[in-house]
Amino acid sequence: MESNKPKLAIVGTGMSGLACADGLGQHFEISLFDKSRGLSGRISTRRGKAHAFDHGAQYFRAKTELFASWLKPFEGNGHLQPWTPRHVYFGADGSRKAHRDVSSKFVFVSGMSAIGKVLLADRPDWKLYLDCMVDLVTGNAGKIFLHCGEERFGPFSHVVLAMPPQQVQALVTPNIAFADALKSAQMIGCHSLMLGYRDEEAPDMDWDCAHFEDEILGFSAVNSTKPGRSGGFAIVVQTKHQWSELHIENNLDTVGSIMKERFETITGIKTDASGYNRVHRWRYASTQTAAASEGSPYLLDKATGLSATGDWCRGSKIEDAFLSGSALAAHLVSQLT
Ligand SMILES: Cc1cc2nc3c(=O)[nH]c(=O)nc-3n(C[C@H](O)[C@H](O)[C@H](O)COP(=O)(O)OP(=O)(O)OC[C@H]3O[C@@H](n4cnc5c(N)ncnc54)[C@H](O)[C@@H]3O)c2cc1C
Repeated sequence: MESNKPKLAIVGTGMSGLACADGLGQHFEISLFDKSRGLSGRISTRRGKAHAFDHGAQYFRAKTELFASWLKPFEGNGHLQPWTPRHVYFGADGSRKAHRDVSSKFVFVSGMSAIGKVLLADRPDWKLYLDCMVDLVTGNAGKIFLHCGEERFGPFSHVVLAMPPQQVQALVTPNIAFADALKSAQMIGCHSLMLGYRDEEAPDMDWDCAHFEDEILGFSAVNSTKPGRSGGFAIVVQTKHQWSELHIENNLDTVGSIMKERFETITGIKTDASGYNRVHRWRYASTQTAAASEGSPYLLDKATGLSATGDWCRGSKIEDAFLSGSALAAHLVSQLT
């Protein structure tokens, strides 16, 4: 049945887009678009035949009451669980020491990307278009169209662009009201190496989470020690953002070889994992400079009916994406309904 609520589109189904949709849902007819085949953006899980890897965000914290209370239902139904890894710290001088980190860490179950699917299962009235790269936005405020190749969607009364700033920039005119704030936001890359071991080759580990004082490597997690994971022994290794930025256009096999060599040298753990062995490049992994958005953790241009949200509007974490998306939703509800 056609709803008589105003139609609103959200491009990007990462945490900011999902949080925004959730805050708007009762007041608008929501359509969600994403260029990927799955939901959740950088909160992502790659599945091989016998292994699974959270190759984007590893875990998250909930420092604000708003985020903690939004997460509560997922905790209740088992889709959110605490993770208490054993930490180790590898120093630049070759030292190695147990690292004490008692802060609460949470993961989504059965993989980080589960949050999108779980949320959508509970919101059957949201329209979802995956594998749908929005390449053009046309029209005016109140009557906006989204184009994905040959297809056109709309009209929408408002469009939220919930994606990294460079991707927003590709869809808006250079004179949009928030052009300067958009330009001020800088993102930086990262590479994730995924190693899936067959049972007989799984290394004997005495840590689940490693932090590196190193020019190339930043962090590593034994993914299979997170709660609710299925599949074989799996390690994710991530670079230092600054290193990736310098090597962002490099061939992924070359990057993989460098990462493996460094990981073996520092940890002594072999990387010839024959179950799965790949590298993923994140061009816009983390916020280097957040948008200068004058107090609001989102960007809005009333004249065009376009707004932008994402972690980069206030920080670099999942919680920042959530707070940006939900603040934008609260503002749009107060202004447009
Ligand atoms: C390697 C890595 C490790 C991280 N580790 C952590 C961590 O441990 N803890 C933590 O809290 N955070 C971590 N983060 C950061 C965290 O993932 C982000 O803060 C958060 O997921 C950002 O959500 P978002 O909605 O702002 O953007 P995104 O998740 O990037 O969502 C943007 C979405 O927009 C879609 N999109 C873009 N352009 C278009 C288009 N033209 N048409 C259609 N769809 C489009 C994309 O496909 C994507 O799904 C990590 C990130 C990376 C990459």
